[in-house]
Amino acid sequence: MSRAVVIIGAGQAAASTALRLRANGFSEPILMLGNEGHAPYQRPPLSKKYLAETPPVENLYIRPAEFWVKADIAVRTDAHVDRIDGAAKSLQVGSECIEWGGLVIATGSRARPLPEIYQNRSNTFELRSIADVARLGPLCKAGKRLVVIGGGFIGLETAAVARRAGLEVTVIERAQRILERAVCPNISASIRELHEFNGVRIIEGRGVLETVGNPSIREIVLDDLERIAADLVLVGIGVVAEADLAKAAGIAVQDGILVDDRGRTSMPDVWSAGDCTAFPYRGETIRLENVQNAIEQAEAVADDICGRQVSYAPVPWFWSDQYESKLQIVGLAKGYDEIVIRPGDRGGISCWYFAGDSLTAVATVDDARAYMTAKKLLERGAAADKGRISDPALDLRTLLAA
Ligand SMILES: Cc1cc2nc3c(=O)[nH]c(=O)nc-3n(C[C@H](O)[C@H](O)[C@H](O)COP(=O)(O)OP(=O)(O)OC[C@H]3O[C@@H](n4cnc5c(N)ncnc54)[C@H](O)[C@@H]3O)c2cc1C
Repeated sequence: MSRAVVIIGAGQAAASTALRLRANGFSEPILMLGNEGHAPYQRPPLSKKYLAETPPVENLYIRPAEFWVKADIAVRTDAHVDRIDGAAKSLQVGSECIEWGGLVIATGSRARPLPEIYQNRSNTFELRSIADVARLGPLCKAGKRLVVIGGGFIGLETAAVARRAGLEVTVIERAQRILERAVCPNISASIRELHEFNGVRIIEGRGVLETVGNPSIREIVLDDLERIAADLVLVGIGVVAEADLAKAAGIAVQDGILVDDRGRTSMPDVWSAGDCTAFPYRGETIRLENVQNAIEQAEAVADDICGRQVSYAPVPWFWSDQYESKLQIVGLAKGYDEIVIRPGDRGGISCWYFAGDSLTAVATVDDARAYMTAKKLLERGAAADKGRISDPALDLRTLLAA
């Protein structure tokens, strides 16, 4: 019987699981099975620096390829897992059967399926992988007209990079404001102003009726019949958990792969971490699509495999770089009933979200001090006095001293 830990996926969560297992002294074989043709790599730069500069792909790698060999962690990068058999403790890669003692599903997320009006068009793009950047990057030439469908983080970051490269950029967001799901109206407004200052047209509260042109989209027709000319169309309308493999194996899935606070799935000896999971957080079941969760939940999984039973109770954090600005969020901006807004020291802004008297999250644009203070307060579970925070003269450091 195998004692190996096999990890499906070779992304951030997979890498973090393997690294933590070895750091914990786990000495059995570890095998990572990825299907992208690359050693584990970081995705955040894809819509930021990497898209702008396209340096060698190795710059994205979480560890140099040789590292995995030295750490005795086997990484296969062209191994698409087709099926998991929980009873036999094995899985199938094509016709090959691989046995496992413990299994970690770290399959991440995939782009939401493209609406039909964008399907099979030669100038429509998504941005999730190195392969996607290899397709889009070389076409981002000054003077081209890029239409971004969806005013979420990836769409906006790509818009910023494209604008810097001299493209004419329009962002179309169907909701009333960009970043509506993630932040409050003040932060949306601050990011909108940033883009408009840089010459991007942001259209909010209007959807797309149809696209004109096949095989190449020439125009996007909005629901009020305005027509927007396009050379390139980036569709950034969110992701869904990559949970089909788990579901087919009979593992409980609800939006994502359901796990407990130690990353255990409903199947014995099977754990899951990262974008693909749905996990308990303060009485709710949530999903997170960020690096913090991919790393920390994976570490909790590795700890559990090694018999260290530590509950995963994160303070989520996230960042987004657009032009020279940095948006940072710590905590979960949900269920709040009041927002305290503070101007930052150097033209930035911070929004402090409260549910009653408890601080639940803070979102900042170009205000690193407010972000770091809030992160420490939330990590300590410390009280934050609303009245004092709203005083623009308050030196935030005093909150930590208290
Ligand atoms: C363009 C972009 C920008 C981002 N920017 C930020 C940011 O600024 N800040 C932030 O916090 N987060 C950001 N994120 C999100 C962050 O990158 C993800 O949350 C993180 O990568 C999740 O890690 P993961 O290991 O769960 O999934 P992934 O990194 O997606 O890895 C999953 C891997 O599993 C593979 N896989 C799936 N199914 C199978 C199968 N059946 N067999 C074998 N392999 C399989 C996938 O191909 C993939 O390689 C960004 C994401 C993208 C795409």
